[in-house]
Amino acid sequence: KKERGCTFRFYEERNFEDAVNQITLEPELLNALRQEQFVLHYQPRIDIHTQRIVGVEALIRWQHPEKGLLFPDTFIPMAEKSGLIVPMGYWVFNKALEDMKLLDAQGCELNRIGINLSFRQFQDDTLVPTIARLLSRSGIHAGRVEFELTETAVALNEQHVSQCIADLSTLGVTFSLDDFGTGYSSFAHLQKLPINTLKIDKAFVQGVTDNPDDAEIVRAIINLAHNLRKDVVAEGAETAEQINFLKRNECDQVQGYFYSKPVALPLLFKQLKQQRQK
Ligand code: C2E
Ligand code: CA
Ligand code: CA
Ligand code: CA
Repeated sequence: KKERGCTFRFYEERNFEDAVNQITLEPELLNALRQEQFVLHYQPRIDIHTQRIVGVEALIRWQHPEKGLLFPDTFIPMAEKSGLIVPMGYWVFNKALEDMKLLDAQGCELNRIGINLSFRQFQDDTLVPTIARLLSRSGIHAGRVEFELTETAVALNEQHVSQCIADLSTLGVTFSLDDFGTGYSSFAHLQKLPINTLKIDKAFVQGVTDNPDDAEIVRAIINLAHNLRKDVVAEGAETAEQINFLKRNECDQVQGYFYSKPVALPLLFKQLKQQRQK
């Protein structure tokens, strides 16, 4: 409940440009949700040693009637400020579960699906029961769902968020720390929260071959993850050199353009089918 005050600050701090954008985009955003103008793309997570797809991350896009395909950076901040991220987040979760069922029915089962959770979604009192309801309605095994959290989200209201995470964990879902190394990094989060996976931010991954400091940071995160018995995913790997570095340093998984951009469901289906034939 304390978090409500925090939301308020967001409204006060936004600058003029944001305010203007919001006036024009906010009703449009609500309308877009009603008319299902959003789509999910999926980016494969590859096991770096076997080269197989072991999971995907669901990434939202807005199929805007005039402006074309819009990327989340252009509308997620607005959705967070207005609170629309709450119903939008449920739409994403539900859609992702439906898509998983479609893939299952075709014999292309994915071990794991990553779903981004915004800090704002924790302010919704019905978060845990709604997730529970959507999960049980889908029949998808909870262990296949991995919610991606940023450390900033956790830090904003530690106690409340930790409680929600603990409650969600009892459903059987798992968690990853997203953009690891950039936010309010705290070892306390790793120690206290039931985190399965660390996702190394692409800013570090993309520097490994040119910047010795980035290379050292990535190595340190991989070791940290393994010593704490967590999986580690490198985000944003684009080149063979980066992949080789990650392989040499025993990173588990990679998610990046080198293997695949985020793709629409039919293309993911094709990728999974090709893999089955190998
Ligand atoms: P993120 O969670 O860090 O997602 C990874 C982003 O990195 C995605 O951008 C992905 O397309 C991009 N990426 C992956 N591999 C590469 C690469 O090799 N090179 C480069 N340059 N980029 C790569 P995208 O899809 O534009 O999403 C941006 C952010 O929007 C996400 O960052 C996430 O924070 C947010 N977002 C996306 N979908 C959702 C959603 O359903 N809910 C919420 N709350 N946030 C979302
Ligand atoms: Ca993510
Ligand atoms: Ca990330
Ligand atoms: Ca990010």
